[in-house]
Amino acid sequence: MRLVVLILLAMAPAFALYVFNSYQQTVAQKGNVREAALRLVRVMKASHTQTIEEAKGVLKAMAQLSSLRKTGPHRCDLLRSELAPTFPRFAEIGLASPNGDVICLTGPSRAKSNVASQPFFSDTMARHDIGAGPYQIDEASLLPQVFLGVPITGDAMRVDAVLFASLSLSQFETLPPAVQLSHDSIIVVFDDTGLVLARYPDPQGWRGTRRIADSPIVRTVRGSLEEEGVIDLQGADDVPRLFAFAKIHRTTKQTVYLAIGIPAALAYADASNAFRSNMLNLGLVSLLVLWIAWVGSHRLVVRKMQSLIRVSDRIRNGDFGARSGVARTRDEVGLLASAIDSMAQSIQSRVAELQRHGDELRELKEMNDALQACMTQDEVLAIVRQFALRLFPDQPGMLYLMHPSGDHLEAKTRWGDPAAMNEFLPQDCWAVRRGKMYRVEAGGDQPRCHHVQDPPPGNYVCVPLMVQGEMLGLLHLENDKIGNRSREQPMVQAAAEHTALTLANLRLRDTLHAQAMRDGLTGLFNRRFMEESLSREMRNARRTKSPVAIVMIDIDHFKRFNDTFGHAAGDTLLREVGKMLQRQMRGGDLACRYGGEEFTIILPATSLHNAADLAEKLRDSARHLRVTMDGQALGQITISLGVACFPEHGDTWEAVLHAADIALMQAKHTRNRTIAYGAEEVSVPGRKVGT
Ligand code: GH3
Ligand code: MG
Ligand code: MG
Repeated sequence: MRLVVLILLAMAPAFALYVFNSYQQTVAQKGNVREAALRLVRVMKASHTQTIEEAKGVLKAMAQLSSLRKTGPHRCDLLRSELAPTFPRFAEIGLASPNGDVICLTGPSRAKSNVASQPFFSDTMARHDIGAGPYQIDEASLLPQVFLGVPITGDAMRVDAVLFASLSLSQFETLPPAVQLSHDSIIVVFDDTGLVLARYPDPQGWRGTRRIADSPIVRTVRGSLEEEGVIDLQGADDVPRLFAFAKIHRTTKQTVYLAIGIPAALAYADASNAFRSNMLNLGLVSLLVLWIAWVGSHRLVVRKMQSLIRVSDRIRNGDFGARSGVARTRDEVGLLASAIDSMAQSIQSRVAELQRHGDELRELKEMNDALQACMTQDEVLAIVRQFALRLFPDQPGMLYLMHPSGDHLEAKTRWGDPAAMNEFLPQDCWAVRRGKMYRVEAGGDQPRCHHVQDPPPGNYVCVPLMVQGEMLGLLHLENDKIGNRSREQPMVQAAAEHTALTLANLRLRDTLHAQAMRDGLTGLFNRRFMEESLSREMRNARRTKSPVAIVMIDIDHFKRFNDTFGHAAGDTLLREVGKMLQRQMRGGDLACRYGGEEFTIILPATSLHNAADLAEKLRDSARHLRVTMDGQALGQITISLGVACFPEHGDTWEAVLHAADIALMQAKHTRNRTIAYGAEEVSVPGRKVGT
């Protein structure tokens, strides 16, 4: 609506100009009409003046007739028989003596005996020339007329008689043949008293009356100094008329006016019609403009705007797939539509990307959760494979782990059908060398890694599994999507980081676990682990009703050894004793460092006899132990051993251990000896052990 109003407002000056022009045209047309009316009045006035002058001329000429100048009855005959028929315009022609007595008179009017009192007579006598009376209504014929008189002079310019005639003014009551007046027009002749002298049409009822004395036209012309004029007034019959008037006769006593009144409606009909039709055309044009503006604005703007509003609403409500459907024109609306569409497109792809990213993050979190729960490296490998298939579909790849030797990497799990090698040296991969992600585009000019040379895959990416500067392995992905680099880069990086952290954690846990149960110096199990193991073994033994033997070992004179060779040598000796013990152990036997230079050996399912036998072997091995440090041979040592057995020597592991300790203390009396709990000395069948 506003657009339409705007268009109309923009056109308003043109409309106003058109209205103004039409009005001007109408005014000009009206002016023409008034001019024509005035011309008509002038023509009629001229015609009337001519008639009067002709009549005067004729009368003058008659007065010159010699036969009329001679007195006698023949004058009247001449008047009646010749002059009156020849000039029918004169209603009456008569002769009067200088004192006014009528000598003879033609015409239908009442006989007049004396005309001395008649204005025309006194005018004629006063002028000694042609004179005229007022324009008046003849009492007998009730027709308008004017009396003219001309003196007939004799010798010494004496007036012998006066020839007079009445001239009918009824010419005004018939239209001249050339004149065409519009229907309902009137012609009225009146004097300054408002007396109607002639009227066309319908003179009866008007002529001879003063019915128009108070009418606007009479009042106007009476007050007017103008000889002629045109004016719009209410007629005596209350019809608005265009009046053209002129003074046709003026004496000191009387002024006579001729007025033509044309009904305004008729006079101005053409002008009004033209104006009306102009206005009608203007209205039609306005309607057309309105229609064009309405339809045009609807087509070009409103419809598109509505569809833009609809699409904006849909986008606001989360329907990012909504598009305006407005043609991509180069105008503002087209540009706006295109901007909104591309905004929706951008939001849609952003949202899709965010959703995808969210999905991937969820997958990544799931992967991380699963990795956290992994207990072993094999479980980690299985999880990596499972999630790689979900996170990087259509992307074959593999996970390499650094060999414990640290000199090569080997593929531990794979998905898809990757083209890279199963094993390679650290220097064969740029990612491993540089310690950061390495991405290669097919056809790019970056050097390719040696482990992915043959056959060359397209794009690929290698991400090192690094934790605190240590290279644990490598995540390798082929058919890498370069186009989505920014999105996938963090994904593959994050997956690699999670995997590396998990592997490092597992390794750390293994290390901590080993540290927690092993003695740092000798590598044997520590005392805490020994106690746990004893408790476990006792439970098993009770269940299976099998024996468990415990051997307690103490190095003899170790303090002296320390003092002699130094503490470091003492440590070396402890390590060597540990190794020696481990060498002698069977599967299931546990060698522990009890503390200081004391060791404990747990022998499940072993009888006291067999345990003592093993103890003797250990004592023998210790005796033959040759320990060197920095190429220097350290002294020989001996060990003392105490043996006890479950269930003979105690019901609990503490009791059995205590028994073994007592046996050891017994052995310590002489040193380099094995004592079984409750026995004086261990004797092995077939041979005597000890000193
Ligand atoms: P005995 O024959 O009576 O067993 O005498 P011994 O000297 O072996 O026993 P003693 O208990 O008197 O001394 C044990 C010594 O072992 C004391 C201590 O300095 C040393 N020792 C304990 N733990 C370590 C160790 O981890 N490294 C070294 N080098 N010496 C240790
Ligand atoms: Mg000791
Ligand atoms: Mg000792």
